[in-house]
Amino acid sequence: MKLKNIKSALNKRIITLVMTTAIALLTVATVSGYNFGYNLYVEGRYIGSFTSEKEAGLVAATIKEKDGIDISSTANIEFGIMDDERFTSVSEACDNFRKQDERFIEAYSLYLNDERIFSSFWLEDATNVKNGYLSRFNEEGAVSVDFTKKCVIAKEYVTRDLIVSGDEAMGILEKEAEVKTVIKLSYYEAVPYDTVEMEDENLYVDEILVDCEGVTGEKYVEHTTEKINGETVSESITGETVVTEVKSRVIKKGTKPYPEGIATGTFKNPAEGVLTSPFGPRWGRMHKGIDIAAPSGTPMYASDGGVVIYSGWMSGYGYLVQIDHKNGYTTYYAHCSQLHVNVGDEVAKGELIADMGSTGNSTGPHLHFEVRLDNVPQNPENYVKYR
Ligand SMILES: [Zn+2]
Repeated sequence: MKLKNIKSALNKRIITLVMTTAIALLTVATVSGYNFGYNLYVEGRYIGSFTSEKEAGLVAATIKEKDGIDISSTANIEFGIMDDERFTSVSEACDNFRKQDERFIEAYSLYLNDERIFSSFWLEDATNVKNGYLSRFNEEGAVSVDFTKKCVIAKEYVTRDLIVSGDEAMGILEKEAEVKTVIKLSYYEAVPYDTVEMEDENLYVDEILVDCEGVTGEKYVEHTTEKINGETVSESITGETVVTEVKSRVIKKGTKPYPEGIATGTFKNPAEGVLTSPFGPRWGRMHKGIDIAAPSGTPMYASDGGVVIYSGWMSGYGYLVQIDHKNGYTTYYAHCSQLHVNVGDEVAKGELIADMGSTGNSTGPHLHFEVRLDNVPQNPENYVKYR
């Protein structure tokens, strides 16, 4: 205990003496232009000067950690006049050591986010590996191909075992690196127009008027894809420019009911069905109308407004309705199964008048439809549309 105290006191005195000497020397140095510091030597070679012994000790610790080489037994620190005019940083000192040690060699290392991935003898080799690896992920429309981590090729001194061949470096990148590719593709795309229906009380029911023709638009689209190591991770539309404005098609649909007993001047299809026989000469005779086939009972409507002038049986026609449209036209609806109107009834265009059947000279349910102008049979297909 006592001895320790004495030793401690002695140490304190020595420290005080050293400090005093140091201050005195620093004063001299300032006057004479010299700088003093803690100089680090390894195997007698000067490495650097530091403000403290502790900082000088960091050099050995760093070399051990980064390069796996223990220099503590060959390093010594001496307080004295500095070789340089300024203090040395720890990293500078590490490099000074490496430069002078035969176990190290000047090399070019590729770093990703400060992590050394590989080292090459030549800058060109390191650059070729980097570019060669990145080019694997290049493709049409790629606007950038780069590592996801910050990539730096640094000149430094490394131990020889870290130097790898180009193929080995490629292999290391395959395991360690992540490459992001951004692909932008642009193209023109058609924009189909929609159809807007509007009611119009000035038009008759089922009359349709195209108020405005639709215009197909066109846009210029930029599509961006992001890939990591060649695998798509996101896709999105990143830009759209209208080239041609799309314009809706506007249709007016009538709501006004057709008047009873009065012709509109146009004809509508009297029944749904299939045209099975046209107007004109047939089997050596004149076919005065057209035949529309559909199941028995299919509703039949007045092709235009007018007055019923016949509703009953007529030879050959079977059950027949005739409508006078009071404008020179009359229409015939033959072979009916049921009649729903009587002579003298005023009917509106589209009004139910009879059901389809196969009465009279008929081989199956159909509507025989005639349009006559001044009692002369016309081709109904000039007035209605079945094909
Ligand atoms: Zn017929």
